[in-house]
Amino acid sequence: MSRSRRPVTVVLPSQEEAAALVRKMRSEVEDNSNYRAKSIRIHGPVCAKCGRDFGPSDLHLLTVHHKDGNHHNNPPDGSNWENLCIHCHEDEHRRGLLGEYLSTE
Ligand SMILES: [Zn+2]
Ligand SMILES: [Zn+2]
Repeated sequence: MSRSRRPVTVVLPSQEEAAALVRKMRSEVEDNSNYRAKSIRIHGPVCAKCGRDFGPSDLHLLTVHHKDGNHHNNPPDGSNWENLCIHCHEDEHRRGLLGEYLSTE
């Protein structure tokens, strides 16, 4: 005799909470995709190491390296960014300077 069986109460976030969460997630996504465009605008579509130039067709091969290894350190003046082609970028990290970075980039 289980008369204590009660429906499970699921607490849904309020509308404001949900909206705030969405806003937060969205702003993080924008920050992450924007710093690359900003860095390219500031430093130019050129690899800082090998000097290769990138155009619209191969721009996706140009990546942004964070000099201090911290992806969340994105000063608007671009001082923590360095544009590196994927080869130079890989090389930079293979030196073990900022190894912890590999998993997130
Ligand atoms: Zn390069
Ligand atoms: Zn890097």
